[in-house]
Amino acid sequence: MPVAEAEVERLLGVLVRALRTSGMRLTHQRLEVARELAVSDAHPDVETIYRRIRERIPTVSLDTVYRTVATLVDLGVVNRVGVLSGPARYDANTARHHHFVCSQCGLIRDVRDTALDALEPPEEALLCGTVELVNVQFHGTCRECRQTRAGGDSE
Ligand SMILES: [Zn+2]
Ligand SMILES: [Zn+2]
Repeated sequence: MPVAEAEVERLLGVLVRALRTSGMRLTHQRLEVARELAVSDAHPDVETIYRRIRERIPTVSLDTVYRTVATLVDLGVVNRVGVLSGPARYDANTARHHHFVCSQCGLIRDVRDTALDALEPPEEALLCGTVELVNVQFHGTCRECRQTRAGGDSE
């Protein structure tokens, strides 16, 4: 699902400013990594970002993509999405939100809900340690996978 153009520009601005303040030289390749993260809410993994950039810049290295993403995570402008299996996924939307995760194809969609945002960690969680983030994940089968499984004849 494409992100609205104004939002892409805003996110890209945040990422580019963060890279600049980190003292990293803003090369064309690093800028493209930031763009890939800003342009889509598909929560891509590093390989996916790399493949997409390679279509435009054949000389891009996987290592550059890895290091740029890692820097953006360190700077706190990109979040690593905790998934049960497969490679780490990344999210340029650091505003509070939650996720639907398809256990068949790995699709990750944003879920926004004020009731979930207001969720307080229970006593048992607080006994474990300090809670820094409350993030709810819904695991299931996405519409597309459900249709495929049902032979394409159901909703
Ligand atoms: Zn799916
Ligand atoms: Zn997200």
